[in-house]
Amino acid sequence: MSKFSMAAQQAASNAQSNAQSDASRPPLSVVRKTAMATHGLKKSYHKGKLEVPVLKGVDIEIEEARFTTIVGQSGSGKSTLLHLLATLDAPDDGEIHYNDQRIDNLPARKKETLRNQEFGLIFQFYHLLPELTTLENVLVPRMVQDGVFRYLGNRRKYRQTATEILELVGLGHRLTHKPSELSGGEMQRTAIARALISNPRVLLADEPTGNLDEENGSEVMNTLQLLRREKNLTIVMVTHDAGMARDSDQIIRLVNGKVAS
Ligand code: ADP
Ligand code: MG
Repeated sequence: MSKFSMAAQQAASNAQSNAQSDASRPPLSVVRKTAMATHGLKKSYHKGKLEVPVLKGVDIEIEEARFTTIVGQSGSGKSTLLHLLATLDAPDDGEIHYNDQRIDNLPARKKETLRNQEFGLIFQFYHLLPELTTLENVLVPRMVQDGVFRYLGNRRKYRQTATEILELVGLGHRLTHKPSELSGGEMQRTAIARALISNPRVLLADEPTGNLDEENGSEVMNTLQLLRREKNLTIVMVTHDAGMARDSDQIIRLVNGKVAS
């Protein structure tokens, strides 16, 4: 995307956000709904006989349709916590709840359904397939989930949805580009669009700007904020860069395996 069109989109979205963000956020007097919560979460890794405790009893509450940033120094356990929230790994102790339902002890297949339908994940590295176009990369999770025949039956609808998401993240003019033809910010926005193809309710992001310069990083942050507003997404982002938490609704600090008060 050219700097001009990005700036134009940004200006429009800023103007919109100023008008809309307060309206889209529940007033303070309304009790907010907790989307995710952890209770006494503990996780250690083992190096030989040595036990390395990483999370030492973490209690957090993530509000629905809000932007929560978890900040902490490198090695403080942010990725570990995000992986636990995403049910990619299991805690040693404690509980994780999603929409008031305990999820850390679900059978593997139910966890997979949660990850496919409710959670979208993005990482520092984009993991785009270099031979595929932007549009095709966004469609990959659909192909994987559906299998060939079902995917082919739904292809028109999926392509329409993928195009709409790519337009929303400002990549409507990059549908047929390959990753090598994109900027870092555009690649990450493609990865974000891919995470949204299954219409998740929660977006879990691990250092999504970690590989980007300031300009591309703020492009990605603006996109995440726009998605929170437009799709009422619950966003949980972890980062070592406290500056990235600037516009968050809630900031949680991880220090030494615990939430700092
Ligand atoms: P952060 O994302 O905040 O940088 P991590 O959650 O990645 O922190 O890691 C926290 C600590 O746990 C670090 O000391 C790291 O070396 C250790 N660690 C992370 N993953 C593993 C693993 N799979 N095996 C052993 N140690 C790990
Ligand atoms: Mg990490």
